[in-house]
Parts: sequence; C-alpha cells; structure tokens
Amino acid sequence: MERLIEGFRRFRRTYFEEHRARFERLAERRQHPRYAVVTCCDSRIDTTRIFDAIPGEIFLIRNIANLVPPYRPDERQHSTSAAIEYAVRILKVGQFVVLGHAGCGGIQALLDPPAQATDFVASWLEIAAPARQRVLARGDEIEPGQRQRTGELEVLRDSLDNALTFPWVAERVEDGSLLVDALYLDLEQGELLLYNRVKDAFDAV
Ligand SMILES: [Zn+2]
Repeated sequence: MERLIEGFRRFRRTYFEEHRARFERLAERRQHPRYAVVTCCDSRIDTTRIFDAIPGEIFLIRNIANLVPPYRPDERQHSTSAAIEYAVRILKVGQFVVLGHAGCGGIQALLDPPAQATDFVASWLEIAAPARQRVLARGDEIEPGQRQRTGELEVLRDSLDNALTFPWVAERVEDGSLLVDALYLDLEQGELLLYNRVKDAFDAV
C-alpha cells in the first residue's frame, strides 16, 4: 500500500492544491458528467488523461474487454447495464462512448481461450461470442497479424449495437438528446480511431 499512499500524498500536495476551488465546487453539488465511457479494465487505459478531461466530466464504466451486454433485464445482477442505466436515465449524459483498445487481453482470451478455467471471466466474454464467430468464420482471409485487431473492432461494433437494444438509450438517440459512438485506442501508435457508421469503418481522428 505504501506506493499508493505516497502517490495520494503527492496528488494532495500538487494537483489537489492547484485545483482546490474546482474540487470544492465538485463536492458541493451532485455529479453532472457530460460523457459516459465504457472501456476495458486494462491498467494502461487512462481514460481521463487520454481525453485531457477533468474530474466530474466522464462517468467511467469499466469491464473486461469493454463489452456492452445486450439489454436483458432479469433477476441477476448486471453491473455494466446498471451503470449504463444510471448514466443515461438518471445522470442524463449527452454522449455515450465505447472505448476499445489495441492489445486487449480480454479479446485475446476470447479468440484463443486459455487453458486455465475461470469462474467468471470466460462466461463474461461470452457476450462477445457473435464477434468471435465472425472472426473465426473469416479464417485465413484475415492476416495473422490482424486477427486480434479485427476481433477488437468487431467487438466494438457489437457493443454499439447492444447499447441500442436498451430501450431508453434508443429513445434518447431517437430524440437527439444522446449520441452513441465507438472509439479505438492504439497506445503503441498513439492513435485514436472513430467508428463511422455510414462507411462501417474506423477513421483516425
Ligand atoms: Zn482490454
């Protein structure tokens, strides 16, 4: 814990002190983020930093492989769906983003399931089974070096489609009060791609 506590002290001395008034304002009222971002748990994805955002701007939802499950209300607990509902129906964010990334361990496990059995990970990744099927069906058509990236982009397409299966997401998209987009981050290249629905392609931004 020492490293974390030391880091917090440094944060309090520097960033917190510099932005004290802002933190006080944030603490005084309820959060009112403009953006909801679903991204991967991957420790290398520092969402606030890559968008140069400030505390209070992004409602961040993280899970393995940045998956948006389809709308399936039932008796079970749905962490990601609950967070999406909170962001869209209660906080009323104006922009919903699914942020995928290169070198995703979750997508790798989806395409090449590891030998080790898991209690939760493999069944969570089943949300992306349709994307896996499409990648496998294309077989040799995909260059070996592009397989992982193809899987990551296919999963993003499905996450976007799944987001629209939530009726209150679809309603707000319909009335123009909510935008829904997908982004793909390649840290190695320092590149961000935006999904273009019309062209069904990811373009560098
Ligand atoms: Zn990942």
